[in-house]
Amino acid sequence: NVRVRFCPSPTGNPHVGLVRTALFNWAFARHNEGTLVFRIEDTDAARDSEESYNQLLDAMRWLGFDWDEGPEIGGPHAPYRQSQRMDIYKDVAQKLLDAGHAYYCYCSTEELDLRREAARAAGKPSGYDGHCRDLTAEHKAAYEAEGRTPIVRFRMPDETITFTDLVRGEISYLPENVPDYGIIRANGAPLYTLVNPVDDALMEITHVLRGEDLLSSTPRQIALYKALIDLGIAKEIPAFGHLPYVMGEGNKKLSKRDPQSSLNLYRERGFLPEGLLNYLSLLGWSLSADRDIFSIDEMIAAFDVVDVNPNPARFDLKKCEAINADHIRLLDVKDFTERCAPWLRAPFAPWAPEDFDETKWQAIAPHAQSRLKVLSEITDNVDFLFLPEPVFDEASWTKAMKEGSDALLGTAREKLDTADWSSPESLKEAVLAAGEEHGLKLGKAQAPVRVAVTGRTVGLPLFESLEILGKEKTLARIDAALA
Ligand code: GLU
Repeated sequence: NVRVRFCPSPTGNPHVGLVRTALFNWAFARHNEGTLVFRIEDTDAARDSEESYNQLLDAMRWLGFDWDEGPEIGGPHAPYRQSQRMDIYKDVAQKLLDAGHAYYCYCSTEELDLRREAARAAGKPSGYDGHCRDLTAEHKAAYEAEGRTPIVRFRMPDETITFTDLVRGEISYLPENVPDYGIIRANGAPLYTLVNPVDDALMEITHVLRGEDLLSSTPRQIALYKALIDLGIAKEIPAFGHLPYVMGEGNKKLSKRDPQSSLNLYRERGFLPEGLLNYLSLLGWSLSADRDIFSIDEMIAAFDVVDVNPNPARFDLKKCEAINADHIRLLDVKDFTERCAPWLRAPFAPWAPEDFDETKWQAIAPHAQSRLKVLSEITDNVDFLFLPEPVFDEASWTKAMKEGSDALLGTAREKLDTADWSSPESLKEAVLAAGEEHGLKLGKAQAPVRVAVTGRTVGLPLFESLEILGKEKTLARIDAALA
């Protein structure tokens, strides 16, 4: 029975790297009809926040993820917030101490630094040197008398640790590269190094799928697991799979602090969860060589972590937008109009709420759907319908209003005045005829009309737009442009 976990720390805003990790765990769980455990790793009181915790939950729900055990729903291994499990960690640490798998270390930071420098200078491994591994009772008492408070350090076995990473294959770590490490701070606070594998053991996690940045903690965790098995706390060592780095601009690792990586940004710009997840799934995985667009169900049906590519994946915003655009096109119109709702209101929409017209919106929406990369673009595309006057920007105005445009506009106005306003075809005929009188093809003839009426040089299909805006407003706007 597959049991995977998604276990973020609630620090800062959710970011795309985190979402990719959640996605791969979720897809793996669902593909294998396994269990997804959602655990909150909030043992770092200085960095964790309740706001960030709430944002995480909100983001997970927005993305459409569900979990079988975790916050809000509980489960057989509750609680799922590490801040509520402190007694468990103290207890395990004590057992590790009692069995000799861990020991008190009294070295001060200054002493550690000095010895590290010296080791470096001598060309030796610069990790912890085992100074406190086998202190005598007298020595300990002397340190205590000096007023030192010890940390608890895990005793690494003197052996090479080898494991088969599900993504990267076999990996070995020599003992000199994995020194003894701290598991409890001097103030008694347990560290990630302890709580993460302890919870994985207690929650019976079978597969640990996480970012490559955590690869180097794996040999330590495997050693700790062995100690936990020895103590009867763990049953077996889980399989590990490390997902590739995500690279951003300039081929640098995309960092949490990069604005491009903030999930909120994608939500505000109007990415669809399914579009974003489709794109993020391609960061290290693919459904097939010739298909970039697929649904989450198709991903789940096909997903296996052993197919993940270990090479760094490049985050390409353009491609992310293109895939999102495809998912927008795939929505049925009703769904599309509903999903646009947030961008038709303040703070996104510039028009007064009472100027919004539901009928006009329903009429224009189908014409907009195929043109958006992200839903927030809807606002600029339809504002001409709801603002008392179009927003003109200088650049569009000069671009469209060439010499002779006034004359063209005048003729177009006359022809539009007598056109049949119940069909966009007839409006097109009118502008076409006006263009002919001035020796202009349709494209050139419609440009000034578009700018006069919508304020922009590009936009939704013009004649449908005019029809929906209505004759009276269209003509008044042309008059205003001519005045
Ligand atoms: N809380 C850890 C993090 O967010 C989880 C690491 C892991 O998956 O083991 O980096």
